[in-house]
Amino acid sequence: MSDRIYPPEWSLDEHLPTGDDFAVTSVNGTVGMGVRARRCFERGTLVARFTGQLSNRVMQHSLQVSPQAHLHDPWFVGLLTHSCAPNCVLDMQRLEIWSLADIEPGDLLTIDYAATEDYLHRQFACGCGSPACRKWITGRREPVNDTGRAYLLGLAARKVRRIPTRHPRRGTR
Ligand SMILES: [Zn+2]
Repeated sequence: MSDRIYPPEWSLDEHLPTGDDFAVTSVNGTVGMGVRARRCFERGTLVARFTGQLSNRVMQHSLQVSPQAHLHDPWFVGLLTHSCAPNCVLDMQRLEIWSLADIEPGDLLTIDYAATEDYLHRQFACGCGSPACRKWITGRREPVNDTGRAYLLGLAARKVRRIPTRHPRRGTR
């Protein structure tokens, strides 16, 4: 039997992810852990099912099932990386991950945290690189906090400074 990503006592469901299809890896210093595909998934297909422990609290690796219920999964789906243009979407009723784009081996699985979460455990700056990047990520029902406002103002100020100024016209002799 192939390596199960969840603890053995949770891995009775054959549709739960295995190490054949996914690798849990560290992404870089700021992002932390992430999940990479180890095979292709075509756009619009079921990528995996997931599970976890229900809690009434928002945690770093929890996903919202309903305003009162959060699924805590520090093994797999709670480790997925945020992107403002994600390649996956979660069905929090069926506990399934579906692909929004073709996924190649080595690609990080990404989701939009604001698609499921009313309030994040912690708001954060985003550098996902997508043209649609919101730069500062919040839950869908919470305003940008003070740190985020300062960060976005700083970004806007840098952008203004980056506009090239015209060269001063050379004096004619
Ligand atoms: Zn982004």
